[in-house]
Amino acid sequence: MKPVAIVGAGFSGLTLAHHLRKRGLEVQLFEKQDRAGGLINTHASGLSLSEAAANAILNDSEIEKLFADLNLPFAARKPERKKRYIFWNTPKRWPLGLWTTLKALWMILQIRLGNAEVLPREAESIHDWCRRVVNAQFEERLISPALQGVFAGDPKILSAKLTLSALFTGRAPAGKEKGSIAPPEGMNQLMQTLRRRLEADGVPIQFNHDFDLKGLGGDQIVVLCTSAWTAADITKDTHPELSEQLRRCESLPLVSVTCVFEKSETDLEGFGCLLPPQQNFIASGVIFNDCVFENRSQKRSEAWILGGALQLGAAGWSDEELINNILKDRARLMPGSEGRRPLEFRVHRWPRAIPHYTVQWEKIVKTLKVERPLFLHGNYLGGIGLSRIHRRSIELAEQIKDIYGA
Ligand SMILES: Cc1cc2nc3c(=O)[nH]c(=O)nc-3n(C[C@H](O)[C@H](O)[C@H](O)COP(=O)(O)OP(=O)(O)OC[C@H]3O[C@@H](n4cnc5c(N)ncnc54)[C@H](O)[C@@H]3O)c2cc1C
Repeated sequence: MKPVAIVGAGFSGLTLAHHLRKRGLEVQLFEKQDRAGGLINTHASGLSLSEAAANAILNDSEIEKLFADLNLPFAARKPERKKRYIFWNTPKRWPLGLWTTLKALWMILQIRLGNAEVLPREAESIHDWCRRVVNAQFEERLISPALQGVFAGDPKILSAKLTLSALFTGRAPAGKEKGSIAPPEGMNQLMQTLRRRLEADGVPIQFNHDFDLKGLGGDQIVVLCTSAWTAADITKDTHPELSEQLRRCESLPLVSVTCVFEKSETDLEGFGCLLPPQQNFIASGVIFNDCVFENRSQKRSEAWILGGALQLGAAGWSDEELINNILKDRARLMPGSEGRRPLEFRVHRWPRAIPHYTVQWEKIVKTLKVERPLFLHGNYLGGIGLSRIHRRSIELAEQIKDIYGA
């Protein structure tokens, strides 16, 4: 049998290749760029590590096994990281009032008891679901900012079914370490360790290769591990109907700006702070890098996230505009920090960063017409977060092995 052709050496493609090899299948990888990693990359200046996209992975038992397979340790984590904030007039550990908290607990109990009425309905938005099962405060102060931090979408059209599925459907069993983890040298260490492991195992990876489906024999298994919009381009001549469906997946822009400051008493300590749109911030959130993992920075290092559906223009702002806006937000978040400029900063602009999980996309994704031996994988199908993508890599590897054998 011909090797499985994997298109894209980002997190989806590399983890799928890893799990197919573990099951004894031959694979080959095609990557358009000159490096593996896709969106994920880490830059080290003398002062701080800076992540281009993902900063960390939500741990579970499968992620722990992946790191163990690769002999890759977890970065030591700092105790301060356990404090997470949502800004509502001030940074709060819990932004809901007593009544809303009780209503939210009641809703969770109903889910546990199997009351289907409280589950998201077909094509129901986050805005509508929150108001139906709890209230507006639950949406504005907790669910929208929390989802904004992952999906960056507009709550009025963000699909409750797609974005909350992790809460309602089975997840991988919990890992020994709870919460977010990362390799000691940053996320790129995971990507390059995966790449080297595959290469050492004899897997060919062709870099600078713009994959074209037309060049392949009809019976070779191909898995497109790219964004939806790139998969739409790749399939346009061979699978026009599928290509049209994929093209309807909206992309959202994101900008991540790592800023390094001198440490100060005014610094808020914790994992980070989510900034709800109703509080009129420009950024949607900030991660306090130096409080999460050891050795990220000896200074104060913050990763500010801007953009998403509610601020489509952010990827077009100049560095100076970005920094000025961040400094305005910072002064409100940490009073007393006014006038302090970063010692250095690094901007990562992603004009088409992640898919918008809209109710419209929920309808399309159910009807995607993918015919074997073509398969699709990527962050527009089962979740944007890496642990969800990894879970799907395992399921897809199982599925391909069951169909085609080792
Ligand atoms: C700013 C930001 C912050 C994030 N933070 C987190 C976080 O903290 N935690 C988390 O879990 N997730 C986070 N994410 C999400 C996560 O990083 C992504 O969902 C994930 O990296 C996507 O991986 P992928 O392999 O599916 O896609 P990509 O990384 O886009 O990889 C696709 C690959 O396919 C290649 N390719 C494209 N076209 C072709 C072609 N024609 N031929 C060959 N190769 C091709 C591309 O060059 C690329 O290497 C974040 C994302 C962003 C943008």
